[in-house]
Amino acid sequence: MVFYRKYRPQKIEELDSEYVRENLFSAFSGNSFTHAFLFTGPKGLGKTSTARIVAKVINCEKHNLEKKHKTKEEIEPCGKCEQCVSITNGSNMDVLEIDGASNRGIDEIRDLRDKVKLAPFKANKKVYIIDEVHMLTTEAFNALLKTLEEPPAHVVFIFCTTEPHKIPATILSRCFQIMFKKASEEELVRSFQRIVKGEKIDADKEGLKAIAHLSDGSFRDGAKILEEMTLLSNGKTITKELVEKKYRLVNVDARVEKMLSLLKEKDREKAFKLIAELMENGIDIKYFLEQLIQRVHENLLENVGVLEKREGTKFELEEIKRLANLLSKAYLETKTSLLEQMPLELLVVEWTEENEGEVLPHVEGDVQESKSQGKVSSPSLNESRLTGKNLNKNLGEKPAANSKTDKLFMELIEKVNEHNRSVAGFLRGCSIKSFESGKLTLETGYKFHKEKLEDAKTMKVLEQVMEEINGNKVDIIILLK
Ligand SMILES: [Zn+2]
Repeated sequence: MVFYRKYRPQKIEELDSEYVRENLFSAFSGNSFTHAFLFTGPKGLGKTSTARIVAKVINCEKHNLEKKHKTKEEIEPCGKCEQCVSITNGSNMDVLEIDGASNRGIDEIRDLRDKVKLAPFKANKKVYIIDEVHMLTTEAFNALLKTLEEPPAHVVFIFCTTEPHKIPATILSRCFQIMFKKASEEELVRSFQRIVKGEKIDADKEGLKAIAHLSDGSFRDGAKILEEMTLLSNGKTITKELVEKKYRLVNVDARVEKMLSLLKEKDREKAFKLIAELMENGIDIKYFLEQLIQRVHENLLENVGVLEKREGTKFELEEIKRLANLLSKAYLETKTSLLEQMPLELLVVEWTEENEGEVLPHVEGDVQESKSQGKVSSPSLNESRLTGKNLNKNLGEKPAANSKTDKLFMELIEKVNEHNRSVAGFLRGCSIKSFESGKLTLETGYKFHKEKLEDAKTMKVLEQVMEEINGNKVDIIILLK
């Protein structure tokens, strides 16, 4: 962890999170500042490192605290004066770090309250950094509150906690709260670039993005991966390909897409085979689940019209709701499961555990819904193309589509609907590719639909109906998009 320690942020500008940086700059831009900060957020996002930076900002000897409007540069600690150096190396007598978990009782806080009154030894202000502050007992919080209500002018508190909901409202309201969140890809890349520059590492931006992808929002984890990659690359450029090769991420995207289509088709057996393949190839299941969740989220955004539709498996809103729940559950369980793949396997079991008739609930549902309420679920295929669903909409709202082929397709769906409603549902998910010289070619985005339509019995019905409509025998071909 050489890089992490060497490049641990020492000033505000070096912090990962833009949100945290901006909040701190604004907290210190005037000639007075709050006497109590509260840093909240998950472990490992640099709350205590940030608290130490704040202690330096407060006590740096070069600062002119009286100045009313400070620039960012004027706020940053110099890092060189006695105060800055002693805070960095942890020997400053006026900056005290207290672990809330082991000093949680009323006696400790009373003791703290007495010491708070004493003036600082050398520094401008005494800074108390209390980590895991949510561990304090109620009595201890009450004692602390008295100090916060009438704080001596020479004291600043910085509370850190992973569980802000356990902090009494009376305390919360007296603090300047800053939430620490997982760093975004962009923020991580920015931090890596600091290391890349300092160490003269040859890495391209895509390579750094790939590392950010693997670091789960943590600069610490990312710095470790960057360090490994630096050793491994042996002076060569760190590229996306190199990172993916090292972390065996090759073809993850294709496999994610495959898993989605298998889930859509409820193909339990093939999904299990795919999981086994992931394990064989050493693909990180947690990472794989993250990618699945991301794709389902995109699907949700596409469904509500926020995101433009792209290629790939599409789920209906109801399916997305259920799948998202199962995925989140599997993701959390993967972190603690003895067998890494088991939560994903159980997800597949649960997801595919349905009666045959409910295999694709939206198909039947669409038929009824759109007829009774004129409601149309979002089309799974490109809007501009002629799709069964669009036709269905036309049926309900305005008379017939224009071309002869459209009419023919509508008639086909209607007639098939009399025979078998779920087959009509599958047809609605198709679009006409061509209809010429006795050959009707349909396209569908779903392998499952294609298979159902190609079933010998179904095909017979389809051909029969088409012959009725057309007068002549028609060959029907189903293509997968
Ligand atoms: Zn300084």
